[in-house]
Amino acid sequence: MSRTAHVVAQSNGAACLHCGRAVTFGMPIAIDDFVAMSNAFVKTHAKCKKPAGDQCAFCLGHGHTYLGCETVDTLGRWRESRDTGLSSEAIYRYFGGLGGDPRHPIDPADFGRCYRLTKRFPETLRALQALAAASKVWAALHKHWDELCRLYEEEFPTGRAPRLYARMEELGTHG
Ligand SMILES: [Zn+2]
Ligand SMILES: [Zn+2]
Repeated sequence: MSRTAHVVAQSNGAACLHCGRAVTFGMPIAIDDFVAMSNAFVKTHAKCKKPAGDQCAFCLGHGHTYLGCETVDTLGRWRESRDTGLSSEAIYRYFGGLGGDPRHPIDPADFGRCYRLTKRFPETLRALQALAAASKVWAALHKHWDELCRLYEEEFPTGRAPRLYARMEELGTHG
């Protein structure tokens, strides 16, 4: 892993996963400017140390987990957080009755975002039924949701999730 792998690009800027700071670039932006601004940001944050203790997946702050996050304490704030992806946003939309593309999680990282959303805001679990009606894969995931959650919880501390990945694949996540 590169020394500055903790400095990442995100939809409209860059973020440092160690100190949690982020910049937003005005889009569209000349590629030269984008590269220059990105490099400057990487340089500033190259030496940021990863603080000890829990890091919150929602706000990237330290000293608490997403379950105790005071910054991201509503679904609306979750929507603006750093922990969203296509499949967890599908849960959010179906929970709100908005429907749309029933994207399912395709790997443990995706599943983790869905897991955290539904753990922190358990009312969103209701969306799984609507998603199951809209997508065969979601129907399979919904049926085995507790088992998948258990696998996620068992494997999460190891930083790898081969069994969860295999089970998801069995349930059709790779079509
Ligand atoms: Zn930093
Ligand atoms: Zn937080």
